Amino acid sequence: MLIQLTVGCSHNQCIFCAMYREKRYRVRPLAEVLEDVDALARMAPRARRVFVCDGNALSAGFETFAALCRHLHHRFPALERISAYVNARDLLRLSDEELRQLRGLEFSLGYLGLESGSAEVLRLIHKGATPENLVEMADKARKADIALSAIVLLGAGGKALSVEHIRGTIEVLNLMKPSYLSFLTAMIVPMTPLMCLVEEGGFQPLTDRAILQEAKSILERLEMDHTLFRMNHVSNLISLGGRLPEDTRLLLKQLEALLPKADDTISCVCSEEEGLTL
Ligand code: SF4
Repeated sequence: MLIQLTVGCSHNQCIFCAMYREKRYRVRPLAEVLEDVDALARMAPRARRVFVCDGNALSAGFETFAALCRHLHHRFPALERISAYVNARDLLRLSDEELRQLRGLEFSLGYLGLESGSAEVLRLIHKGATPENLVEMADKARKADIALSAIVLLGAGGKALSVEHIRGTIEVLNLMKPSYLSFLTAMIVPMTPLMCLVEEGGFQPLTDRAILQEAKSILERLEMDHTLFRMNHVSNLISLGGRLPEDTRLLLKQLEALLPKADDTISCVCSEEEGLTL
């Protein structure tokens, strides 16, 4: 079930992201959102999982988010999980006690667009987070028993910051140890600041081979704890998945077999139509 609490993204500044550029961020009136919940509960009273949209629904603030969770709890008796996109700023604003309360109301999974663990790359892409506060938020979520699903963007630093992107991402992920981890590719979409940077020559996108090499370099030095790993998004050049560290060797073998077949094509720069499929 999808429930829309916010419209757009409270940050809306990441240079690669075209998702909510046309939407002005706002928190919907709670009464309206609760009416949506009631309507959905009439249609699917046995729903078990709810995702709260749009970007960063926690930006609505604790009281509003908790009121929504309580209502969801009340209207969906079989509810097992509430999830939402989270970011460091909004999650760190909540106290440990508030997070524990949300967890008690089944808010148990946050999708985190980590993108990179490198301070330089995070600055370049205007993520609005530092490696330190990303690690701090992961600690806070762990203490409240809220799982994180971290998303890494291969190629986010371009050619100039690739080594730094790999180094910082390994470091932060090894501290975070997220329950779920996905590698996506940083797609360069028309009408974004990143596309302008590429056109001005200020960002050199990675070749297909270099993107796979980044995936391999990060994977081989990760120290995870039974993390469910996926690299199967439409932006990925290949489809991989498994548990880390249990399947690390197998995943690396698959990547090694594919590397010689990858070439110097740059597939991450996309047309407007391709951008729409992401
Ligand atoms: S990547 Fe996420 S946080 Fe950044 S602008 Fe897009 S929706 Fe907002």
